[in-house]
Amino acid sequence: MTTLRIAIQTKGRLNQDSIELLSDIGIQLTQGKRKLISKATNFPVEVLFLRDDDIPKTVASGIADIGIVGENEVLEKGESVNIAKRLGFSKCRLSLAIPKAETYTGPHWFNNKTIATSYPETLKKFLDDNDVSASIHEISGSVEVAPSIGLADAIFDIVSSGSTLISNNLKEVEIVTKSEALLITNRELNNEKLYLLQDLLFRLDTVETAKGKKYIMLNAPNHRLDEIKGLLPGMKSPTIIPLANEGWSSLHSVIDEPQFWNIIKDLKDLGAQSILMLPIEKMVL
Ligand code: ATP
Ligand code: MG
Repeated sequence: MTTLRIAIQTKGRLNQDSIELLSDIGIQLTQGKRKLISKATNFPVEVLFLRDDDIPKTVASGIADIGIVGENEVLEKGESVNIAKRLGFSKCRLSLAIPKAETYTGPHWFNNKTIATSYPETLKKFLDDNDVSASIHEISGSVEVAPSIGLADAIFDIVSSGSTLISNNLKEVEIVTKSEALLITNRELNNEKLYLLQDLLFRLDTVETAKGKKYIMLNAPNHRLDEIKGLLPGMKSPTIIPLANEGWSSLHSVIDEPQFWNIIKDLKDLGAQSILMLPIEKMVL
């Protein structure tokens, strides 16, 4: 039987969210992450654990069919893969940063400077696009300390909160690209594999649709029902069930969580009682 092989990061920032995503769409893995490969017990999928740097190539070459990896790595490696879905986690940016005390005058500031980075290709493209001639010093980790030890004049690295830059006396001066986790796929999947991929994408959409949505239940006096319904647009229309208590109904609907806080007071003023909000795990429209 056809199995879809998914490459994810062994350990690091993407690992936990990738495993959680698979679990959210009902894929349970057999072994812990110490093994290179783990088969799912309940879906024809196996998971290959790799360093994130190796994921684009593994997917492009077809050793894995699909992969979960940061956009930054996909851009850097330039491998030929399709992007099936943007996953919305591990959001960060790739930025240029210089010592805090320097005055930044625009990209030409970098002319004849040395820039330390783990992303030489992405940096080279930015420099070329801006007609800047700088030398690139490639290092694989702790890029942010390079200026303070005299290894480079500036850095090009991942930034999220910016606190690493601040603690190394650096300031962000150019955001070159933004990044988030991507679901990438091999370009030549056969029909059976495409079918499995469609199933996974459908499951991902189901989880995504439910995000931020809550199931709301409340009891309301019948003569205020129309006004209460007006506050709760729901999916199509709210469900209304008569209560044993004469003149009262129970009303069920789906709302966006932030909306709940906007209407809760109005609901109470209209006589709604016993208001419950329940989480929704999955939703198919
Ligand atoms: P590996 O050992 O697999 O090569 P790594 O050290 O290269 O791991 P991590 O630090 O685990 O990589 O980061 C993995 C990915 O997570 C990055 O490529 C980037 O897409 C994203 N990422 C990195 N740092 C942050 C951050 N501070 N905030 C959000 N996302 C981040
Ligand atoms: Mg890496």
